Amino acid sequence: MSTKDFLEKDYYKALGVSKGASADEIKKSYRKLARKYHPDANKGDAASEERFKEISEAYNVLSDPKRRAEYDEARSLFGSGARMGGGGSGGQFGGFDLGDLFGTTSSGGRLGDVLGGVFGGRGRTNTTTQARPRRGTDVETEASLSFSDAIDGTTVSLRLTDEGPCKVCRGTGAKAGTVPKVCPDCQGTGQSSRDLGNFAFSEPCATCRGRGLVVDDPCATCSGSGRALSARTIQARIPAGVADGQRIKLKGRGAPGERGGPAGDLYVRVHVAGHPVFGRTAHNLTVTVPVTFTEAALGAEIKVPSHRGQPVNLRIPAGTPNGRTFRVRGKGVRRSDGTQGDLLVKVDVQVPTELTDDARNALEKFREATTGADPRDELLRKGRT
Ligand SMILES: [Zn+2]
Ligand SMILES: [Zn+2]
Repeated sequence: MSTKDFLEKDYYKALGVSKGASADEIKKSYRKLARKYHPDANKGDAASEERFKEISEAYNVLSDPKRRAEYDEARSLFGSGARMGGGGSGGQFGGFDLGDLFGTTSSGGRLGDVLGGVFGGRGRTNTTTQARPRRGTDVETEASLSFSDAIDGTTVSLRLTDEGPCKVCRGTGAKAGTVPKVCPDCQGTGQSSRDLGNFAFSEPCATCRGRGLVVDDPCATCSGSGRALSARTIQARIPAGVADGQRIKLKGRGAPGERGGPAGDLYVRVHVAGHPVFGRTAHNLTVTVPVTFTEAALGAEIKVPSHRGQPVNLRIPAGTPNGRTFRVRGKGVRRSDGTQGDLLVKVDVQVPTELTDDARNALEKFREATTGADPRDELLRKGRT
C-alpha cells in the first residue's frame, strides 16, 4: 500500500460505509459486498473482479486499527481525494517530490514513516493551505466561426494561457537541484500563533507567508513563486446552432486543478461571420429574394436558395405585396433537440429600369386597363384632417 494509494482511494466509499463506521459495520459491509462481487460468482466479469479487488484492499486497511488510523491521518492531512501525480518513482505532491522533500521515496515507505520524519508527531494540526486540492480557475476566450460552422457545429483549436505550477521547479519555487525546506518558524504549518495572555490567535506565518516551506535559492524562472504561465492548445467542440455573441460553457476545460482539485470551466464567446446570402434570427434563416412585378401580381412558382442544399420551390400567390415574408418549414438551423428552424423568405418586388418597346407597350396597355381610383386618395384625404 503506497502513500499514493492512501490519498487517491476512498476505502470508506469502496465499502459503502461512513467514516465513523464501527469495526463491526465495516466487517458486515465487506462480507456482503465480497459475496456479491466474488470472482466465483461472476465468472469472467472484469468489472466485478476489479470491484472485488477494490473491496478487499479497502477491507485490508480499514479492518486493521493501526492502518486505519494511518489512512485517516493521511487523508486529513492532505485532504480526501487528493491526487498524487508521477507514478513510479515517488509521487509528486502539489509539485513537490515527497521523496526529495522527506528524504525517502513515498511509494516505498509507509505513510506514517514518511510523515513522521517531518511533522514529528505533531499530528493532524498540520493541515496547511498548501495541501488542499484547489479547483482550477475558469478561463474565458473567444472564437471566430464561419456562418456555416456556427450552424453545423465545429471543432476549433483554442490557444489558452493558464497559470499553474512552474515547470522548471515543479512548483517548488526552488532553484534546480535544490528543494524547499520546511519553514523553521512555523514547522511547516504555515501558521504562527501569537499568545496574548488569555488568548492565542493564529495568523499566516510571516517567514513563509503561510506556505509552510521556504527556499534558500529561488527558481530563476518564477522568482521563487512556484507559479508560472503556460500556454496550451485545446480542441473545443462548438455545438451546432450557436449564435453570434453567445457564450458557451465547456465544463472542465478551464485551468487544470491542483493537488487533485477539479479543473475550472472554459467559457468561449463566439463571433459568427456573416453570409453573403443568408441572415439568421435565432434558429430561423432569412433570405431576401427579388421577384418581378409580374410574378408578384400574377403569382408564380419560384426557386429560392436553401443553406447548403438544393434550391427549394416556393409558391408566390397572385397579388403578393412587396416585402411579404414566406416561411419554408424545416430549412433553418438545427436545434439541440433535433428539430429545425425555418427559412424566412422575404420578397423584394423589382421595378424594371429598362424597357424594350414591347414591354413599354404592354405596360401602357396595362395602365389603360387599370385606370380607376387614385391609390393615394385616402392618404390625401387623411392628410387634410
Ligand atoms: Zn512559516
Ligand atoms: Zn520556478
